[in-house]
Amino acid sequence: MKQFLLVSFALALCAGCDTPGSAPRDSAAGAGSEASARTFRGEYPIKATATVGMVADIVRNVGGEHVRVTQLMGSGVDPHLYRVTRDDVQTMLGGDMIFYSGLMLEGKMSDTLVKLANNKCVVAVTERIDEAQLLEPEDLAGHYDPHVWMDVSAWANCVDAVAAALTDFDPSHADSYRTNADVYRQRLMQLDEYGRRSLGSIPAQRRVLITSHDAFNYFGRAYGLEVLGVQGLSTESEAGLQRVNELVALIAAQGIRAVFVESSVPRKNIEALVEGARAKGYDVRIGGELFSDAMGEAGTYEGTYVGMLDHNITVVTRALGGDAPDRGMQGKLSHARGAGE
Ligand code: ZN
Repeated sequence: MKQFLLVSFALALCAGCDTPGSAPRDSAAGAGSEASARTFRGEYPIKATATVGMVADIVRNVGGEHVRVTQLMGSGVDPHLYRVTRDDVQTMLGGDMIFYSGLMLEGKMSDTLVKLANNKCVVAVTERIDEAQLLEPEDLAGHYDPHVWMDVSAWANCVDAVAAALTDFDPSHADSYRTNADVYRQRLMQLDEYGRRSLGSIPAQRRVLITSHDAFNYFGRAYGLEVLGVQGLSTESEAGLQRVNELVALIAAQGIRAVFVESSVPRKNIEALVEGARAKGYDVRIGGELFSDAMGEAGTYEGTYVGMLDHNITVVTRALGGDAPDRGMQGKLSHARGAGE
């Protein structure tokens, strides 16, 4: 049943792209004018709205000079809990295209997105990812884990989805979108390679990543780490004392040296873990703050997708005893944040 609902939700959203909002009504309604109905008729740059930073980053890079992107959720904002404001709705209604991550990440925005899809082009960037690449956790039967950006090579498929949507909407700049997508994809492949090399250097017995909530399952799958969260897949569920106790026992038993806080989730659960371990005479430290569901501050390197993942890869590698440069893949990471506390 849930699966059916998800499928129909996705179809409803795709349908919106057949009649872009800025196309004149008569051409959209006219028989046999399908091609022109799909074509962008407004003024450049195309006004795109994106939900989370990771999605906005793709649209900015692929759209280049032809697209201006408004990002709804900034640094430190939790997309699981985010509710659209009246201003957000105005922004989306006033723009040409809307891009969101999908797989129920923006769970509280679903109704709004479905409604907007009636007269706007609304695109779920994860729609082209092969189901075989998606994780379907047992406790969420029928739902996929939405945190796909943590596996860089799987997330790279979203670049193609954005390029295809922009090309459909604005065929006159198809070449530009293709070229930009190729350049961006190339950078993601370098990042993925850096992730494999760095995280691969962590000694076998220390390859355990403990964080605030289950945002890192794709990260663990891609780079070979066992991943455990204090909270579940969505930050909506409360962490139980029992879960904290289980993790404390595991930290003590396996000699885990570091656990990690997340920038968009309160620190209290991870602090409870550190305290709990300490009470049992075991010293585990906070290995750093990771970017899970939001990028860093706008205008910084960590405020880009590549910078966000570079930060996570570098901080985790170094805290768990692997080998990675202090300032990351290309020497751009802010040292203070990378160091941890
Ligand atoms: Zn999350």
